[in-house]
Amino acid sequence: MLTKMQALAHNAVGPTVKITAVETIHLSRGITVHAGAIQWLWVRIHTDEGLVGLGESYPNAEAEKAVVHTKLAPVLLGRDPSEIDQLWADMFRNVNYSGWAGAEMRAISAVDIALWDLAGKAAGLPIYKMLGGASRKSIRLYNTCYDHVDFLKEPVRLAQELLDSGIKAMKIWPFDPAARANYGNYITPEQMKQSIEPLRLIREKFGDAISVAMEFHGFWNLTSAIQIAQALEPYSPMWLEEMLPQDNLASYAELARATKLPLCISERLMTRWGFRELLENRAARYVMPDLCWCGGISEGKKIATMAETYYLPIAPHNCGGPVLHFASAHLSANVTNLFIMESVRRHYLDEYQGLMTTSLLPVNGELPLPTGPGLGTDLNPDVLKRKDTLIQRSEL
Ligand SMILES: [Mg+2]
Repeated sequence: MLTKMQALAHNAVGPTVKITAVETIHLSRGITVHAGAIQWLWVRIHTDEGLVGLGESYPNAEAEKAVVHTKLAPVLLGRDPSEIDQLWADMFRNVNYSGWAGAEMRAISAVDIALWDLAGKAAGLPIYKMLGGASRKSIRLYNTCYDHVDFLKEPVRLAQELLDSGIKAMKIWPFDPAARANYGNYITPEQMKQSIEPLRLIREKFGDAISVAMEFHGFWNLTSAIQIAQALEPYSPMWLEEMLPQDNLASYAELARATKLPLCISERLMTRWGFRELLENRAARYVMPDLCWCGGISEGKKIATMAETYYLPIAPHNCGGPVLHFASAHLSANVTNLFIMESVRRHYLDEYQGLMTTSLLPVNGELPLPTGPGLGTDLNPDVLKRKDTLIQRSEL
């Protein structure tokens, strides 16, 4: 006798279900953030049962789109979409000729998220319930401050607004102007003082009522990073994120040994093998996978579990499009070793508007768990009709 859940799953994703089409939806308008134009790419997996799964990639939509259609669609078409682990392994095998990074992994990530959405829809369950269920009632957030209030000019006003909305943690990157000026090679005493000032002002006004993470975007060399970390120690930032490029994790271990402050590393690492190196170098106190880059929800869950074996918490990177926001919420709802999840109020209040059928907004500074099967959201049909939307399909 099948339970209701098993019957749903059996009927919707039985052995006869096949992937019939892989579709990319490219919103070519893009948005402008620190690194220039970011473009979101949505991937939809269609089945002969009529169910459709939704995933997302960014920021180089044209590159990720090419991988989806030329390298991943041939693996996926005709296969059973419920075999997520084997499909992931087969996709990875099909592109793993030059390491782990790049558009190949971002494209696999988008497909993986779409397969989880499909599996959740087939089972009638939110993705977090399929990952092992909820480990919390709501999700602790920090705000990343791409914002109408400039943290360089008005850090106190920005912190006050966030506190007023119930958000008790924020992330800023006031050392970036000095890094750009000197190519990350050195920092002058005057630049050091100026760069610390936003954090000093926030501490002076609010004490430790708001946590402040410092982001460095991988711009610095080791020598400067150690100087900056030591200069920041009296101001107790929540973490120091990506002070160095992520290519030499042994250098990160040296930085970690040179400062009392915790390091957060890194959305630019991909796959369980990339994070294995990080963990083995004992460099990070906070582990930061991006589900649209690291290999999707499957890989994010594995990385979280690996971090747990080192007694380390994760802090999912969530500075992309609206599907990443939902996917990150599902993983954050599930894992037992969550520290905090990233969110960007400019995104969920502004950029995401009109794109999805539902939104996921903080309540008193915390994110409620997503509801509904799969991701719990879908593309707004109007997006498909926009003039700047480019749609491409690979079919059986
Ligand atoms: Mg970062």
